[in-house]
Amino acid sequence: METTLPNFLKQRAYLTPDRPALMFQDEIITFAQLYAKAIAVSEQLASLNITEEDTVAVLLKNRPQTVVVLHALQQLRVRTVFLNHRLTPVEMAYQLQDSQSVLLISEDEFSQATEQIHDLDKHISIFTIKELSSLPHHSLEILDEFSLDDVCSIMYTSGTTGKPKGVLQTYGNHWWSAIGSSLNLGIREDDVWLCAVPLFHISGLSILMRSIFYGMPVYLMEKFQEDVAVKLLQSGKITIMSVVTATMQRILHKLQDEKLHPNVRCMLLGGGPAPRPLLEACVEKGIPVFQSYGMTETSSQTVTLAPEDSLTKIGSAGKPLFPAQIRIIHNGKQCKPMEHGEIIVKGPNITIGYLNREDANKESFQDGWFRTGDIGYVDEQGYLYVMDRRSDLIISGGENIYPAEIEEVLISHPDIWEAGVVGMDDETWGKVPVAFIVSNKQIPAHELQQYCEGKLAKYKIPKKVYFVSSLPRNASNKLLRRKLLDLIQS
Ligand code: ATP
Ligand code: MG
Repeated sequence: METTLPNFLKQRAYLTPDRPALMFQDEIITFAQLYAKAIAVSEQLASLNITEEDTVAVLLKNRPQTVVVLHALQQLRVRTVFLNHRLTPVEMAYQLQDSQSVLLISEDEFSQATEQIHDLDKHISIFTIKELSSLPHHSLEILDEFSLDDVCSIMYTSGTTGKPKGVLQTYGNHWWSAIGSSLNLGIREDDVWLCAVPLFHISGLSILMRSIFYGMPVYLMEKFQEDVAVKLLQSGKITIMSVVTATMQRILHKLQDEKLHPNVRCMLLGGGPAPRPLLEACVEKGIPVFQSYGMTETSSQTVTLAPEDSLTKIGSAGKPLFPAQIRIIHNGKQCKPMEHGEIIVKGPNITIGYLNREDANKESFQDGWFRTGDIGYVDEQGYLYVMDRRSDLIISGGENIYPAEIEEVLISHPDIWEAGVVGMDDETWGKVPVAFIVSNKQIPAHELQQYCEGKLAKYKIPKKVYFVSSLPRNASNKLLRRKLLDLIQS
């Protein structure tokens, strides 16, 4: 039977109309105002004949009007596709076509990209937010309920291991993801979640969804700036912030000898591997950093450290959020504690599938479980440790080598800014690890070797080191290891 819940934003505006929903610079918008604005924009969108059968894409910055548009699209029950700003127009056009978007909502700053998209795809209508605001209002019947099975958003994966895949996220996925998070972190009356992650990633959208369910304000930043973020984190206004490794590093650096305000109760760290030295530096400074593990397909975190473990279980991504489960499998069998295998996950926050990707759906879903493609293990107490992606594993002379482990050691060298490790063909060992390094110094090979000895087993020490000016990264700034060898072949 179909499960429905009250129309999310309407219900929140009814329950706590005067609470702040959104803070942006000096602007504050209450839930009642947000709802009224969203309804107004949905009426304007309806004048374009946008209906619940449609898919609409957004290419929008982290601004209050974006939040309004996103809610307006939910009010129309259309599926929303989120475009990453850093994609090329060709990549954007692919996602628009793949999702059969009928409308792209953008803003003036992206006019160059939208002109090129228009040249590539003449069928799609493109409107800026400004243009939408002058459209006539078309009266609409406001929905009383949302079905948890309906698709709310389509978000493409980052494309780290291959072509980005369109992930179908339902209203139910967002609901359960937010519930799972609250059952771990709790909800406090003074909570304000700082959102300096992009709204086009699940890390950003999930904060907006939690705000509606919890009745909690979001402090929105257009983009991450460490000086502004640190000021906010020291002001006492913020209690939780979502960060990735790079932003956490920049906050730490900016803080120097200063501390965060004691009201900051959680820095939720996700999106990729977290180097141990960073976690240790946070603990030393009393920063409550919580490592988490999740992906576009899990509609945000699905495994997170609990508050009481954040200082003692450094390096672990934690245990599953209450509604979710994890298992480690190898050759079809469940692994024992400490044994490495693929992480599989289950729960109501997991996507119902990829759009137009029968191949990937077949491969990824088995007996109600989702195969993440990541390798990890759980310890005796059930804490998860994420090792690396299955596709990046290097098998050298029968030994498994995880590039992330080597990269972490290399990055800890004071003269190394960035490092990427990949397997290179080798007659004796099958594959051997080689490293690509960004540094301002040409560190001699023997010195690097010495640095790694004691930190890494001999077979893990890179056999060759290439100094390069930058590493290949995707639009989410994730390292593309599959493109590293091209740097020496070109
Ligand atoms: P694609 O699926 O297209 O290759 P992607 O996997 O990078 O791209 P995302 O959904 O943005 O797309 O990222 C999820 C991935 O990020 C996870 O599968 C995992 O590899 C990595 N990741 C997330 N959290 C952690 C963590 N705590 N430790 C290590 N890796 C993590
Ligand atoms: Mg992925």
